[in-house]
Amino acid sequence: MTYDPSNIFARMLRGEIPCTKVYEDEHVLAFRDINPQAPTHILVIPREHVASLDAAADAAMVGRLALFAADLARKEGIAAHGYRVVMNTNRGAGQTVFHLHLHLLGGRDMGWPPG
Ligand code: AMP
Repeated sequence: MTYDPSNIFARMLRGEIPCTKVYEDEHVLAFRDINPQAPTHILVIPREHVASLDAAADAAMVGRLALFAADLARKEGIAAHGYRVVMNTNRGAGQTVFHLHLHLLGGRDMGWPPG
């Protein structure tokens, strides 16, 4: 999928629209999901313009997102009980924003299989 720089997360990275920021550094931005599916629901996005996991090639960048989420889960106090990390990839899996992102969900028990 071609990357469209007018997507909502790219606009957040440029500071064009607000978000409830949790953390940012030179690599990633983390913010609260506007429609939370769990008591803690944070989105972690890279600064690089990559549409989805299906379009990702940078192992360091993808690994950084995962380890960043693990660190954030500890800081948010959801790690000991358990949390879920999700990357919806392409439309059939529910991806609606085509800038790579990781969902960090926790603060409640999770069912399996996911819907
Ligand atoms: P996905 O469906 O995996 O592409 O996830 C996109 C997520 O972005 C959804 O969980 C939305 O609730 C969330 N979202 C959309 N717009 C915003 C926004 N302005 N601020 C925070 N989260 C958003």
